[in-house]
Amino acid sequence: MAKIFAIANQKGGVGKTTTTVNLAAALAATGQRVLLIDLDPQGNATMGSGIEKRSLKTSVYQVLLGLGTAATARQRSETGKYDILPSNRELAGAEIEMVDLDEREIRLRLALKPLEADYDFILIDCPPALSMLTLNGLCAAHGVIIPMQCEYYALEGLSDLVNTIKQVHRNLNNDLEIIGLLRVMFDPRSTLANQVSSQLESHFGDKVFKTLVPRNVRLAEAPSYGMPGVVFDKSSKGAQAYVAFAVEMVERFRGQAFPAPASPESTPATA
Ligand code: ATP
Ligand code: MG
Repeated sequence: MAKIFAIANQKGGVGKTTTTVNLAAALAATGQRVLLIDLDPQGNATMGSGIEKRSLKTSVYQVLLGLGTAATARQRSETGKYDILPSNRELAGAEIEMVDLDEREIRLRLALKPLEADYDFILIDCPPALSMLTLNGLCAAHGVIIPMQCEYYALEGLSDLVNTIKQVHRNLNNDLEIIGLLRVMFDPRSTLANQVSSQLESHFGDKVFKTLVPRNVRLAEAPSYGMPGVVFDKSSKGAQAYVAFAVEMVERFRGQAFPAPASPESTPATA
């Protein structure tokens, strides 16, 4: 069964999409079967995977509203060598339209069930808000990867995210845990970045990934070519960091069986 991770941080522009797309491609390059879910109406992960977001027949929007299946919506990213459930601005409407629907927090989880056996990893790129879409991402996942910039305001808001994850764990998805914090856009010459990085390590211990992703212009250029950075320029420092991160993830989860995320009613809490 697939290991399912949501890449989340309600702060905007902290590297969620860059992390999702590059981790997906780096995992795929090592032979892992990967599905990426673009849960953001901005559709950045869709475009960054080489898929035109303006011409989608079926997207995450239809899947969440029960108007299409995940199997029909999935497409192949030829540049990233992974599958993707794409999205575009239509998805913004789902936020409101889901309010009246049953099981609105777990619609993504239910939609993914038929696909779980097809993949080793499912990665969910969340939008920059603690919204119903993000909640669907958290309810569908076994764990959360939190990309963070090591800057003064980085820790602000982290407690809101951690509390939301705790609440989802308690009430909606007993399997959910924080897998780790990933330091991205890191500048080793910055004293502040080093200070914040040490603070994170002392506060979160082994929940901080060993891999540090540096600020690297090749990662920022890649999406305009519809390619993950790890494919666009394999030799760049940014690409190498995401390859190292994929190795860290595979090692961490080697040999672990993951059951499908279950609701609290059907599974007793273990944590
Ligand atoms: P949003 O909250 O809008 O969804 P996000 O958290 O998904 O944003 P990204 O889109 O991944 O963040 O990154 C924000 C910007 O920073 C993008 O222009 C991206 O190309 C750039 N970027 C991300 N990571 C790096 C990096 N390591 N080095 C240089 N630029 C980066
Ligand atoms: Mg994004």
